[in-house]
Amino acid sequence: MCAKTIKTDNLLAPLYNPSNMDFSLSPDQQQKREEFKTFVQQYVAPVAAQIDRTRRVPLTVVRHATKRGYLAPTVPIEYGGSGYDMLTFSLLAEEIAKHSLSLAIPFAIHTCLATGSILDSGSEAQKRQFLPRLTARGEIAAFALTEAGAGSDAGALATQAAPVADGFVINGTKTWVCNAGLASVFVVFAKLQGDGKHGRINAFIVERKMAGVSLIEREETLGLRGADIRTVQFENVHVPASHQLGEIGSGWGIVMRAFNRVRIVLASAALGASERALDLGIRYAAQRNAFGTTLAHKQRIQNFVAECVAEIESLRQTIRYAAWLANTGQDFGVPANIVKYLGGRVAGDVADKVLQIHGGAGYREGEEIARIYRDVRALRLLGGTDEIQQFAIARDAFRQIGVKIDP
Ligand SMILES: Cc1cc2nc3c(=O)[nH]c(=O)nc-3n(C[C@H](O)[C@H](O)[C@H](O)COP(=O)(O)OP(=O)(O)OC[C@H]3O[C@@H](n4cnc5c(N)ncnc54)[C@H](O)[C@@H]3O)c2cc1C
Repeated sequence: MCAKTIKTDNLLAPLYNPSNMDFSLSPDQQQKREEFKTFVQQYVAPVAAQIDRTRRVPLTVVRHATKRGYLAPTVPIEYGGSGYDMLTFSLLAEEIAKHSLSLAIPFAIHTCLATGSILDSGSEAQKRQFLPRLTARGEIAAFALTEAGAGSDAGALATQAAPVADGFVINGTKTWVCNAGLASVFVVFAKLQGDGKHGRINAFIVERKMAGVSLIEREETLGLRGADIRTVQFENVHVPASHQLGEIGSGWGIVMRAFNRVRIVLASAALGASERALDLGIRYAAQRNAFGTTLAHKQRIQNFVAECVAEIESLRQTIRYAAWLANTGQDFGVPANIVKYLGGRVAGDVADKVLQIHGGAGYREGEEIARIYRDVRALRLLGGTDEIQQFAIARDAFRQIGVKIDP
């Protein structure tokens, strides 16, 4: 028997504080959203299929994004960024994802995971040294946590940092490093040599130009083909003490805060991809004839559309809630887990239904819905798999009656 009792209708009470909630877009956010739409129409939509086909994001896209202040835009203006709040950044990710998840996801990783960790935990000197490069100067950053033996169980990582007189020597191999081929800066996680496998995790800023950093191989992926994802080897990389990020032993907190940030943005990317898919589905249904009329007049097709609309609008409101918590300085960890989980499920379901509306045409290589279908699958894996998100949501629910559960 549990020591505490709880009414089931109370389970989510700590997540919902109805006072002072305001999810409306400010005039500035509305104006920015229009600017984002213009940028995406001009520079992303025309090259989206090409990015997928050639597995490369044209550098002009990065250059134009940088010029507009879209690279790591949550970084404050004093460090070269645009000072966007979480909701504004989510709107940008949503717009980009409507046309290219291959661009939106690496962009989220650059902003929230890598650059965001330097903003979150860097010293003043580190912020001044690195943030202007990763915003105004158009350099790209990567986040190197995962290893062959440490995926969901990231705490099992084996990369080691050996303390030396003036810093650390890092040895280890990181897998699934998104942006690796483009990055000049890596945020790398390692345990201190001698701490053993249960040692605490530490974060370091490693530069691509440092001796001993090598790119091993690029992943050939089902979707997100424009994302440059690689295995990266760190072999006797001498990292000066000035590149240690945060206190020794504080790496796990850096990882968790980075994941909280990126989860809202990944959900927003899922929202954008879902909206685009639904748009394609509605247009297709309105012009494709079967049995004497268009598909739009078939009830089963209408049901598909209705289900997609309901899922998309529920996701949008949950994202707005999580972003509002983040913007108002409140704890958004639980809603971030929920939106990340919902986002992947909704995008997968909407892409599947819209592909079905397209019939055989949706299964053709080169069709936009086929690309979306492949791309959205990644959203259930990166930034916390569905199962890890489910665990985190269940853990917070059980915690309310004093029951501790482990992954
Ligand atoms: C497109 C893409 C981009 C990525 N980008 C990056 C990046 O930039 N940087 C980086 O460090 N990593 C990155 N990753 C790695 C990603 O974080 C890992 O793939 C993810 O953490 C899962 O780890 P894994 O693949 O080793 O799966 P595993 O951990 O081996 O899991 C395999 C399966 O078992 C399930 N599982 C594991 N533990 C449990 C449990 N306790 N209970 C129930 N089920 C469980 C998982 O949910 C999954 O379904 C990326 C991955 C992808 C696909």
